[in-house]
Amino acid sequence: MIDTHCHVDFKEYNKNRNEVMGRAKDKLNAIMNSGASLGGNRRTLNLQKEYPGFLYSTLGFHPSKASKADQSIIKQALDEINDNIDLAVGIGETGLDFHEITDTNAQKRQINLFQTFIKLSEEYELPLIIHARGAEKKAFEMVKKASSIDNVVFHCYGGDAETAERIVLEGYHISLSTIVCFSEHHQNLAERIPLTNILTETDSPYLSPFKGIRNEPAFVEEAVKVIAEKKSISMGEVDKKTEKNAKKIFKI
Ligand SMILES: [Zn+2]
Repeated sequence: MIDTHCHVDFKEYNKNRNEVMGRAKDKLNAIMNSGASLGGNRRTLNLQKEYPGFLYSTLGFHPSKASKADQSIIKQALDEINDNIDLAVGIGETGLDFHEITDTNAQKRQINLFQTFIKLSEEYELPLIIHARGAEKKAFEMVKKASSIDNVVFHCYGGDAETAERIVLEGYHISLSTIVCFSEHHQNLAERIPLTNILTETDSPYLSPFKGIRNEPAFVEEAVKVIAEKKSISMGEVDKKTEKNAKKIFKI
């Protein structure tokens, strides 16, 4: 199993990161830690040094942060992404969050930065990891225009089934998080999306499948379990296929 999207660099893990990583190593073959800010990108690159061949980094800037951050911070983040691009297995997270950010000007800033990241993904031929919330269709349209990107991942996708279908038709991937354990909408998506287009993730520390327990990469097993149930196939099959998808996309 692989957790293709988590944030073990977050301060939530400062007290027990070693244990969390130990449990992840027991259960999983790899994790992709998602850089969501200037500091986050730096932290994930440091963690990658600590857990070589197990923790891989994707480098980006979260859309909600893009709406608020100083332009100088964003520029600094982009410079450092360019400098460290050889160490990254993907670009992101990036995208559009119109659910959280409703102000039109702030949304425009997200669109501009997302466009920059789309170009980076094209230029470096790295997969694009998209966070899209309340703007799934818009994000899809934007990335589809950049037709030279092969590997596109809609992380923690929660949009409608129709857009999901278009994503699949385009050959892009949808990453189902542990939210699938408790959200009926996501369970319906799990049923409909072909296994060939599915990745698994936790988005730790968010979206825990267990009430009162903080999420962590090892819990991605719970998502695999539910996807298998919904598709009436074995956990082993979901595990094998989604891991294969992830290895192909991230070239690990
Ligand atoms: Zn994330």
